[in-house]
Amino acid sequence: MTDCIFCKIINKEVPADFVFEDKDIVAFLDINPKAKVHILVVPKEHIESINHLQDSHKDLIGQMFLAAKKIAEDKKLSGYKVIINVGKDGGQLVDHLHLHLVSPDVKCEHRI
Ligand code: AMP
Ligand code: ZN
Repeated sequence: MTDCIFCKIINKEVPADFVFEDKDIVAFLDINPKAKVHILVVPKEHIESINHLQDSHKDLIGQMFLAAKKIAEDKKLSGYKVIINVGKDGGQLVDHLHLHLVSPDVKCEHRI
């Protein structure tokens, strides 16, 4: 997906502040944070949205949630929200599936 900003971040063509990466998933700071902690968890595969998921993506979806859990543990977040926007009317601006991990945790030392 040549025009996708998240694919460019995944391919390191556009810089981002990465907080997690494994073979299938990346996570980086949201450039326009809505809370003290605002991290995007993104599969490396370009999938447009939840509406474009197939049965073959079951593992990948689980990996996204496990990555969110790991990041929250690493950052010692006391609580957080996981949000996925779907479609323009659902507030989705970037058409590459991603999960928002947002937390107001004042004790977290993470920079935003
Ligand atoms: P959504 O509205 O669910 O599609 O969320 C897209 C998110 O991507 C927004 O919160 C943006 O602030 C964020 N975003 C867009 N471009 C970048 C970028 N280059 N680096 C980090 N976050 C970005
Ligand atoms: Zn993409």
